[in-house]
Amino acid sequence: MKKIYKAYGELDYIKEVELPSHSIECAYCGNTIAPNTGFYIKSQYEDIFVYKCPLCTNPIIYNSYTDESFPGSMYGRDIKGLPENIQTLYDECRTNYSNKCYTSSQMIARTLLMHIAVEQGAKEGETFAKYIDYLENNGFIPPNGKKWVDFIRKSGNVANHQIVIKEKEETEKVITFLSSLLLFIYELPNEMSEGDKT
Ligand SMILES: [Zn+2]
Repeated sequence: MKKIYKAYGELDYIKEVELPSHSIECAYCGNTIAPNTGFYIKSQYEDIFVYKCPLCTNPIIYNSYTDESFPGSMYGRDIKGLPENIQTLYDECRTNYSNKCYTSSQMIARTLLMHIAVEQGAKEGETFAKYIDYLENNGFIPPNGKKWVDFIRKSGNVANHQIVIKEKEETEKVITFLSSLLLFIYELPNEMSEGDKT
């Protein structure tokens, strides 16, 4: 996984202690880890651990009461071969998700979907639903993807003056849809080099 959160590098934990272990995803190195050392902070209602990632040594704050960690885990796969501007926005979309900013994560995802449609030949200045129609009608949606298209179209087709707060599960679906398109449009064609063509 791409390291979206800037790692601190090799760290030395002074007065490190043993901690109860929890399975979490390290947002620095992208691995699923079960750390059991770091620092312990006691507050009135909850135990807070500052775990040391056993693989990259970066610190992850874990709240035992809410079962939340910071930085939070990422969602969506890494995609190779993205143009720089798309990579930047896709990273921002996933970082917003990991920080529980689901509305802004989805706004970026929808912007990227519209951008992809225009880049693939759709007219500028259309509604979000029109862009999703364009992607569907021009072969960018895999077979049996109709339910996905309907869901994405419905989730994003609100007027600009409306404020709709977005939730986690819906955001995960939008990111899944976006990452699949990015994979098919950017990563897979680049994986097939000139020498592989028959
Ligand atoms: Zn790590």
